[in-house]
Amino acid sequence: MHFYRPLTAISAITFDLDDTLYDNHDVIRRTEQESIRFLQGHYPVLKYMQAVDFQRLRAELRAQEPEIYHDVTLWRWRAVQLALIRHGVSEAEASAGANVAMENFAYWRSRITVPQSTHDTLGALAEHCPLVAITNGNADPYACGLGDYFQFILRAGPNGRAKPFSDMYHLAAEKLNLPVKQLLHVGDDLTTDVAGAVRCGMQACWVNLREGNLMHIDDTRLLPHIEISRLESLTALL
Ligand SMILES: [Mg+2]
Repeated sequence: MHFYRPLTAISAITFDLDDTLYDNHDVIRRTEQESIRFLQGHYPVLKYMQAVDFQRLRAELRAQEPEIYHDVTLWRWRAVQLALIRHGVSEAEASAGANVAMENFAYWRSRITVPQSTHDTLGALAEHCPLVAITNGNADPYACGLGDYFQFILRAGPNGRAKPFSDMYHLAAEKLNLPVKQLLHVGDDLTTDVAGAVRCGMQACWVNLREGNLMHIDDTRLLPHIEISRLESLTALL
């Protein structure tokens, strides 16, 4: 554990999900593959649709509605709907089709393998202070056995703009009835998790799982209060 800024009292801990509590890489790759396969197989008009076509539709939506990226689930739903509409499907049918495609997406997306060390760590921490999940993504902590550790889960889109915007950080403090400075946010991303949390007055812990090196950064806004390379190290703060 490395200390870069002085830590003060911690009354609650907020967690990023993807690549902080589990490795998200394989599940996302598989989910993207299965999603395209589902579209190709389920809708005859999309038989020849490729991942690159889907990405193009997403980019098109983002160009038209720059704020749509805050809600990755809605963004994906709209891209499926648009794909169907572009192939002559009525808007109502395309919306129903997008709902079914998102159910398939959620099924694959939730097949996350959570390490036992994450369960042990969250279980130990939850006995000492409230834990909260704050995610920009669309993983469902309940579907992978993590839901019960958290007092509540905040999601970009329904609960505010995506990190590093402060919406969800402030909302977490408000719901916990604690000053933001008494919250420690833990995450793997120096911009969305560390800089976002530090900028709104929280304390931040960077989970450095890929042997990154803070000595190579020249932007001090990205500097966390602490750096850990294994989630278990957090129990040392209790
Ligand atoms: Mg992450």
